[in-house]
Amino acid sequence: MKRNAIIFAFVTCLGVCFFSCERSPLFNIIGEEARSSQDFVINPPLNLDAIKRVGSVYGTPGGSADGTPHKGIDIGGDELLQFMSSTDGIVMMVQETRDNYTVNTDVIIRYNSEFSVLYTFEPASRVDVRYLQPVKTGEPVGCLGVRETGYIDQCVHFGLYKNGEFVCPVPYLREDLRQKLNEVYKSVEGRYPENICNCPEHQHYFEQE
Ligand SMILES: [Zn+2]
Ligand SMILES: [Zn+2]
Repeated sequence: MKRNAIIFAFVTCLGVCFFSCERSPLFNIIGEEARSSQDFVINPPLNLDAIKRVGSVYGTPGGSADGTPHKGIDIGGDELLQFMSSTDGIVMMVQETRDNYTVNTDVIIRYNSEFSVLYTFEPASRVDVRYLQPVKTGEPVGCLGVRETGYIDQCVHFGLYKNGEFVCPVPYLREDLRQKLNEVYKSVEGRYPENICNCPEHQHYFEQE
């Protein structure tokens, strides 16, 4: 009897070790606590030279489907343009959605319990991630498809969630990404807002430009 109990304890220990060493999604969600909000930065989600257009930006009046201000940054490029993960994280959603033009794909990557980023491929030609997949910065997320209808070109609507609400991504953009997006956005004359966001508290990011 005592010997059986020792064998049982040994096998249980082995099992616990096996499961805690395996890189399961659960392990990674627990491990994410190592990713602090203070270190959160949005690295370029694509090759900066491949940015062809910046459409609606955070705060563009009426830029959302429901007529409210736009809640992300629309980054446009050529068909098959590859987008990468802008942070380390875990894929919490891969879902098809629809707008007036195309079938789109939403991908949400969770950095930690506070921050997640949203990519809405409008539309996607390919998606490279699956639900609960851990991703590292720079790993492929998906590729743009082509939009043949309407006046809106294909883009990725890039949004940032903080505690479940959309917030302005500008303070979190890596500096070269922020400057490039603003440069491309401003290359179209007479735009409003004048910079890639209209938040009064972020205008100091644009003062030197
Ligand atoms: Zn958008
Ligand atoms: Zn802002």
